[in-house]
Amino acid sequence: MAFVIAEPCIGTKDTACVDACPVDCIHPRKNEDDFVTATQLYIDPVECIDCGACVPVCPVSAIFALNDLPEKWKHYAEINAKQALMAVVSKAEQNQR
Ligand code: SF4
Repeated sequence: MAFVIAEPCIGTKDTACVDACPVDCIHPRKNEDDFVTATQLYIDPVECIDCGACVPVCPVSAIFALNDLPEKWKHYAEINAKQALMAVVSKAEQNQR
């Protein structure tokens, strides 16, 4: 399981969750290149340790345990996973240059 950031993050991108995460698996951080262009923040499902520390600090209640994701936002699990994967690929490409 992993936690997932859903629709309320769009247009908000508050980074309290980033600061609360003990394993640094919420991206992009404010100092990362894609922060400005990112639609929302996302959680890397592979790195997430399911501690729940990010949930209470989100000002718009955008973060849910996978099993608690409201039906209308189920697709955000895939969005988070896809964004995490794209970030890994992008970093690998940058390292090859
Ligand atoms: Fe990070 Fe814990 Fe939230 Fe997972 S549940 S994103 S590990 S703060």
